[in-house]
Amino acid sequence: MGLQVARSDMVLAYIGLGGNLDSGAIQPAQTLLQAASDLDQLPHTRLMQLSPLYRSAPIGYDDQPDFINAVALLQTRLSAIELLQHLQALELQHGRQRSTLQRNGPRTLDLDLLLYGEHGEQCIDLPTLQVPHPRLHQRAFVLRPLADIAPALHIPGQGPLGDLLPQVSAQVVRQLPADPNGNAALT
Ligand code: AMP
Repeated sequence: MGLQVARSDMVLAYIGLGGNLDSGAIQPAQTLLQAASDLDQLPHTRLMQLSPLYRSAPIGYDDQPDFINAVALLQTRLSAIELLQHLQALELQHGRQRSTLQRNGPRTLDLDLLLYGEHGEQCIDLPTLQVPHPRLHQRAFVLRPLADIAPALHIPGQGPLGDLLPQVSAQVVRQLPADPNGNAALT
């Protein structure tokens, strides 16, 4: 399927952004901000909102730096599969080395398609793409920034976002302050 093929109707797509390794001289917070700007440049796609950035403790594999995370809301005419292909291309552009990557291991940039559809309501179960993202409801570093931009969201198969947040309250997630230039400060 070609990357430029577009659907006729606009849908919403929620993207999870994360990273904990420098990409060359670029620190993770800057990588995330650049990736958000790159999402806005995708064909048939507009960046509608970007959450504040968060710092989160690693999950699953502890011996690595904290992650920086955010969630972006896109309006797009791309199909979900086309969008996934673009996300993976952007990960590589930002220094991601997929071949050596272990699940939950360190990375320069991770882009996940969290939710997709007219209201983010579609369910997709393909070998290469599951939407809603199968682990989004278990992760404070996704639910917290998601709640910043869409507090009334209902996660298909899981329930209202407001009911899911208390279940992940034990996970340490801290919002980063924004500096006067609009960039995230790394404190
Ligand atoms: P990750 O290590 O999180 O980057 O996982 C990437 C793999 O997850 C790829 O092989 C994708 O095909 C697959 N995948 C399945 N569902 C999704 C999704 N909703 N968003 C991103 N990757 C997905």
